[in-house]
Amino acid sequence: MRVLIVGAGIAGLSLARALELRGIIPDVAERQPTWNAGGTGLFLPGNASRAFTQLGLFPEIARVAMPIHYQRFLSRTGKELSAINTASFWDVCGPCLAMSRAEMHSILRNGLKQTSVAMFRSVSHIQSSSDSCDVTFADGTTNRYDLAVGADGVRSRVRDFAFPHVKPAYAGYICWRFLTENTVGADSWTAMIGKRQTLLAIPVSPSRVYVYADRSVSLDEARQYSDRTSLERHFTGFAGALVPLVKNLHPETEVHFSHIETVPSGTWRRDRIVLIGDAAHASSPSMAQGAGLACEDALLLAEVVSESSSIDEALSVFVQRCEARVAWVQKQCLARDRMRTLPAFVSSQILRYLGKSLYEKSYLPLLAPI
Ligand SMILES: Cc1cc2nc3c(=O)[nH]c(=O)nc-3n(C[C@H](O)[C@H](O)[C@H](O)COP(=O)(O)OP(=O)(O)OC[C@H]3O[C@@H](n4cnc5c(N)ncnc54)[C@H](O)[C@@H]3O)c2cc1C
Repeated sequence: MRVLIVGAGIAGLSLARALELRGIIPDVAERQPTWNAGGTGLFLPGNASRAFTQLGLFPEIARVAMPIHYQRFLSRTGKELSAINTASFWDVCGPCLAMSRAEMHSILRNGLKQTSVAMFRSVSHIQSSSDSCDVTFADGTTNRYDLAVGADGVRSRVRDFAFPHVKPAYAGYICWRFLTENTVGADSWTAMIGKRQTLLAIPVSPSRVYVYADRSVSLDEARQYSDRTSLERHFTGFAGALVPLVKNLHPETEVHFSHIETVPSGTWRRDRIVLIGDAAHASSPSMAQGAGLACEDALLLAEVVSESSSIDEALSVFVQRCEARVAWVQKQCLARDRMRTLPAFVSSQILRYLGKSLYEKSYLPLLAPI
């Protein structure tokens, strides 16, 4: 079977590995000239650990990642509102982990034994029919595939060919992310919640911490922010706990600024084109499910294409088995995103009295394998 994977992010690399494990060696095309996973971190809830175990990469990941036993929610003044024992909740799947993105990418790349990734290669056209895909690459070369997989992220070019009407939408907030020394002694996932603002720190190694800061603003207002925005000035209402991480931010720290965008799920497959990961269903980071879902998509797609009697049947089963899970995650993300616009007093009370039960309810369906 001739398979093209467009995009070598978490979804594309996981799929290449999952296909290799089943004896199918895909072509992988990555637009970037060199590997650049960005200098930020990733939080991986237990279902992501289970997926990486199924890919056979869990030992490598566990060797460099930090286990996260608790998720703590604090008020903007540092008072604890709730603490979720993530280790016991996710016990049936695997541990929650945090690590740098660069390390995750490197493990996924090293996990490919026979597949080579063509760098600086992107697609300029795909003509899909009921039994094949004719792909034209940007350098003018063409190739015919049985299946073309769009794993090319939230602004997917493959999605533009298959579903030109589906566009990413602004989720209503912007964020800054960076890795720095863990000067505050953060030993678990710790978030300070203010009105329309969050400051989150997660240890990614014994000495380093991943910091994520966000702010809900209109799209117009978002234009005045950038990676050079003074976070100290924008988090003046916060006190204690994690605040030194933004207050004492070293001027040379590489800060990644982004608008959060989502892709409405449900349109993933047309003829012999299928989308996975963010290309199919980018969600806001509120549930930290992006990497887990990308890897679960990859495992499932590899399973169905290698076990079904036809590619058509495989893709139908793939969409049918993913749909409900992705819809659930997107619904939970929306509910969490709405909460950020509530008055701080109200969201504090919700987190204090209902935090644990809301957490468990939102993640419960993900404890079961896809
Ligand atoms: C602020 C923020 C914080 C997040 N935090 C977390 C977290 O803590 N935990 C978590 O699980 N998830 C998190 N996510 C989500 C997670 O990052 C994504 O869901 C995940 O990276 C999706 O992987 P992907 O491979 O689908 O897409 P991407 O990572 O975007 O990879 C797409 C790849 O395709 C390549 N590409 C793009 N266009 C083309 C083209 N035309 N031709 C060839 N190649 C192309 C790109 O260069 C890239 O390498 C976060 C997201 C955001 C925005």
